Amino acid sequence: MIRQHQSPGTLSCRQVRRLLQAYLDGELRDARTVLIADHLDACLRCGLEASSYRWLKAQLAGFAPSADERQLDRLRAFAAALVDEPA
Ligand SMILES: [Zn+2]
Repeated sequence: MIRQHQSPGTLSCRQVRRLLQAYLDGELRDARTVLIADHLDACLRCGLEASSYRWLKAQLAGFAPSADERQLDRLRAFAAALVDEPA
């Protein structure tokens, strides 16, 4: 569902990216969680990125209890490249 917020409370994609990890880890407990959830619903690009991180976290939780940081970085780069594909 596409919504065009222009209120002062709206987060930019850049702000969402910065908060995304903490959001997905459940570390944000304030009103920003609602703003981020709204943004992920409305913004395909950020929504895809969130999906990629969720997938990554699930993979790591399932297969790599002590995740190798370099492999994690490669997976992150892969996820970022997916999101960077033109629509
Ligand atoms: Zn966005």
